[in-house]
Amino acid sequence: MKKITIIGAGLTGLTLGALLARKGHEVTILEKEGRVGGLARTYEFDGQFYDPGPHEFCTDNPVLIEMLKSILGDDFRICHKKAAQFFMRRMIDFPVRPLHFFGQMDKVLILKIMAELVYFRFKNLVCETMDYSFEHWVTNRFGSTMYDLYFKPYTEKVWGIDPSMLDPRTASERIAFNSVFDIILQTLSYSLFNKEQYGSAHSPLKYTFYYARRGIGHLCDKLLEECEAAGCKVELNWELESATIKDSKAHSITSAAGDVQEGFDVLVNTVPITVLNSALDRDDLNTDLRFRSMVFCYLDVPAPELDNFHWIYFPEKKYSFQRITDFSHFNADMTKEGHTGLCAEIACFEEDELWHMDDSKIVEKTIKELLASGLLKSGEGVKGWITREKHAYPLQINGFIEHVATSVEYIKTIPNLVASGRQGLFKYCNMNECMEMAIELADSIDKDKEHSFSLDSTWKGAHNVQIKEKTTKKSEAKKSAPKKSAPKKTSTKSATKSTAKKTTKKKITDA
Ligand SMILES: Cc1cc2nc3c(=O)[nH]c(=O)nc-3n(C[C@H](O)[C@H](O)[C@H](O)COP(=O)(O)OP(=O)(O)OC[C@H]3O[C@@H](n4cnc5c(N)ncnc54)[C@H](O)[C@@H]3O)c2cc1C
Repeated sequence: MKKITIIGAGLTGLTLGALLARKGHEVTILEKEGRVGGLARTYEFDGQFYDPGPHEFCTDNPVLIEMLKSILGDDFRICHKKAAQFFMRRMIDFPVRPLHFFGQMDKVLILKIMAELVYFRFKNLVCETMDYSFEHWVTNRFGSTMYDLYFKPYTEKVWGIDPSMLDPRTASERIAFNSVFDIILQTLSYSLFNKEQYGSAHSPLKYTFYYARRGIGHLCDKLLEECEAAGCKVELNWELESATIKDSKAHSITSAAGDVQEGFDVLVNTVPITVLNSALDRDDLNTDLRFRSMVFCYLDVPAPELDNFHWIYFPEKKYSFQRITDFSHFNADMTKEGHTGLCAEIACFEEDELWHMDDSKIVEKTIKELLASGLLKSGEGVKGWITREKHAYPLQINGFIEHVATSVEYIKTIPNLVASGRQGLFKYCNMNECMEMAIELADSIDKDKEHSFSLDSTWKGAHNVQIKEKTTKKSEAKKSAPKKSAPKKTSTKSATKSTAKKTTKKKITDA
């Protein structure tokens, strides 16, 4: 049996801890915050429950579904979702239903979009097209009008940089459709044959998702109970500050309060890879690895509902938030009778004014913008709360994958150190992938097997990207990047190699 220390009690750390403790290993989890759950935690304000963003659990992995059912018992929920885009003061169903979309939009604009789609479809058939960046990936598939009108402003709002600086994986790993023709085909397939899988567990065309009564954080609270019942020790308010290597192995870790932990056989990192690099005194590995932060504004509205949708996207820049989630539709006892519970996600960087703004001012601003949209009918009696998340989204700047790979290569040189999860591997992934990574890692540690560190998305909807070096675009992108917000250097060295799979293996050795 091994002595295993896990840093971070998010979904990855807790799943791993529970699985290893159940196998009889001596496990300790160390967590910076005063409670577990990380990004997947639920906040309770004034008797209502709010998640930071929707946190729909999507999977078609039967092992994971069984695991969720067994952890949550009676608190396991299946929700039927409805989402929309609020665009040009119109509510457009998301995923887009072509007839509904055409009915809502200006006809001249529709004609322009259609002409471009035909042009790009034809161009893609006769010429080799390359996806140098997010901008290229989208324009090659949806045309430049759709890009300028919708994708560009939304992406700039969410990521804070020009989409020409973003790696095309940010598009291919999140946009479920490979082209507008794909949308039409898949929507028809749903309408005619009620076929909703489309090979993608997280597709917006999949109308159901799993959830937990009283919010996704309840899943983490239940996992904590499982950890403790299996003998796993969980220490809260323990913030990793430094780590030492001795005889080429991870030897000790020290908290910000000066507590030293050592004597572990295996050390698992699930906290942001940049935090681990700094703790190991390897800040040089953090070049070009940067996170997008987020401010969450939670509102208690003393009225039955905002609209008909679980969540609504706001692509236009006049709204500072990019999405509003309405928890009164989650069928999970989140809100009080006659009340609506909302979460507005506002992406920013730590240097931005918004990050430092008074909580009351952010609440006021959010209410004002919602009133201006016409969706909120009255601000009377609306109460609000704010939380901030520094490491919300890993910023996938062009060339980022090589920098992550370099950090992972370094970790691999330390035989008893391993990294996992969204933060630990700087992976723009969802909860199902985090739990799958934890299941795989628990097996590798338990059975002394070689462990693969895959940096590729395991999202089934992910499309291939075709990337080739193009230096001119980089210099153009650099010029347009906001000085403070964008990372200092952009590497295109990686671009030619990026179609290759980023999976490397390492045998985890005891200290
Ligand atoms: C706005 C938003 C919406 C999302 N919506 C969805 C969704 O709808 N569906 C979905 O499947 N996924 C969603 N996700 C993604 C999901 O939240 C993550 O994939 C998952 O929760 C990541 O788990 P993790 O354990 O890898 O990382 P985290 O949850 O970040 O856990 C890492 C833990 O490490 C701790 N930590 C950090 N620094 C230190 C330190 N120095 N010392 C000790 N501990 C430390 C943190 O406090 C945290 O508890 C969303 C994410 C965001 C930001």
